[in-house]
Amino acid sequence: MVEMYKKSGEIVSKVRAMAIKKVKENLKVLDLVEFVEHEIKKMGGEPAFPCNISINEVTAHYTSPSNDESLLKKGDLVKIDLGAHVDGYIADSAVTVVVKGETSDFTDLPLSEKELELQFKMIETAQEALENAISTVKDGVNVGEIGKVVEETVTAKNLKPVSNLTGHSMDRWILHSGLSIPNINEENRRKIVEGDVLAIEPFVTNGVGRVTDMKDAYIFRFLRDRPLRMVQARKLLQQIELNYKNLPFAGRWLQEGFKGRQFNLAMRQLISSRAVYPYHVLTEKSGARVAQAEHTVIVESDGCEIITQ
Ligand code: MN
Ligand code: MN
Repeated sequence: MVEMYKKSGEIVSKVRAMAIKKVKENLKVLDLVEFVEHEIKKMGGEPAFPCNISINEVTAHYTSPSNDESLLKKGDLVKIDLGAHVDGYIADSAVTVVVKGETSDFTDLPLSEKELELQFKMIETAQEALENAISTVKDGVNVGEIGKVVEETVTAKNLKPVSNLTGHSMDRWILHSGLSIPNINEENRRKIVEGDVLAIEPFVTNGVGRVTDMKDAYIFRFLRDRPLRMVQARKLLQQIELNYKNLPFAGRWLQEGFKGRQFNLAMRQLISSRAVYPYHVLTEKSGARVAQAEHTVIVESDGCEIITQ
């Protein structure tokens, strides 16, 4: 089992490094998410969820729809959040980068020097908060203790953690298996134990430190079988359950084979009948930019092993 986690972790680390290298001005977001998902498959894994590319104040849950024409712009603060699984054993990791200009440096950006510095500070702080959180992880630690370390690290830099986003425990085929790992100091007596697989993911901002739901959703998850009137919706639900089980998937992955608006109609019916859960795009409430860092760890008696190092 640990071997499987190590394999998915290795895939995620390698693809993450390749994705970072690919980031540059005018790259299509669609090309980046497809590149990440394709490389994961080439290395013998499957995407555990659609590659999330969340830019600037967009904090999480954005992946390209199939008609996405958006491009990375120089100075953008880009969060690349990717996951792979091997036979259901999931590794989840994220990194944040600033998009360079065509001349591959950080001059001539649509940001002041101060704003650029702030972005690098947010990236470093998210990484530092992640490292400090990981160094507290061992059998018997309260999850509140991990959140406290994240919050203290971030506020010491005069920045804020995003308080309503958390890390999570994972299980085979389950991305969020019940335990939340807070990014703030909260009363939480729940303890992590040896063998737990945890995704720890601090988000750092200079805004109010909360995210809010947008209307749009491009990532979904199977919830339950439901009686459905529309044949297309019934077929789509079967296909979803068969291919992704309870793991998140992209609308983009399923759109082929549907004509015109048929796909959107079928998805809408699956969502309204609560057969499928939509992950709405999340943005920082005050519109401030956000940086994120994430690793997956396996809890040990006296520490933990980082599988996405
Ligand atoms: Mn993630
Ligand atoms: Mn995660």
